[in-house]
Amino acid sequence: MFDLKKALACAQHVTFMTGAGVSTASGIPDYRSKGGLYADSQRPEYALSADNLAAHHDAFHEWVVKNMYHPAAKPNVIHRVMAAITNEKGTIVTQNVDGLDRQAGAEHVVEFHGNLYRLYCQTCHQAIDYHDYLKSDIHSADGGVIRPDIVLYGEPIASEVLQAAVKAIQQADLLIVVGTSFVVYPFAGLIQYADPKATLAAVNKEPLELPLGAHMVLGDATQVFADLA
Ligand SMILES: [Zn+2]
Repeated sequence: MFDLKKALACAQHVTFMTGAGVSTASGIPDYRSKGGLYADSQRPEYALSADNLAAHHDAFHEWVVKNMYHPAAKPNVIHRVMAAITNEKGTIVTQNVDGLDRQAGAEHVVEFHGNLYRLYCQTCHQAIDYHDYLKSDIHSADGGVIRPDIVLYGEPIASEVLQAAVKAIQQADLLIVVGTSFVVYPFAGLIQYADPKATLAAVNKEPLELPLGAHMVLGDATQVFADLA
């Protein structure tokens, strides 16, 4: 029987690969899971695309503010336990753009898809405070369109981010997947860089299709991580 606590104690470098499920316990719904509830022009694959931002920045802004910004959200026990472990010996590679890992104090974080609370004006590239963006996506100084520094559909992952993620996966002798069904590429493809000798585990309520030899820790992640604390 796989013992997560023991595996964590023995590991030299723990890399967590995380997704939306880690932040739902902080009250941040997974914008992708609403599925069929969106009208076509409101589906995330379009609303959150580089094309939409270029053609309809106001619609893009409205959608992002309505569906993605939850500034009152606070880190939960999963974020806190991961921060404590990785500050000592490891890395978090997350698909989440909510910044909650850093808010929990994590120092070794690769934000694979960027961070909603880091914004810039596309015209002058000045950093913009998110409070201003919540009110308007136009930079008052020059009329430029402000955007969050997140990876949109149709945009590549920045090469330095990709390299940092690959390094974190390669270094790990224990890899733990949390809060993601592991179907979103290129994130899911990162697992191919794992050391063949590394231990791989996934924490999820329902069983996931995992590479051979991977351990499934079935259960609610908040409970699993609370038990580790
Ligand atoms: Zn500007």
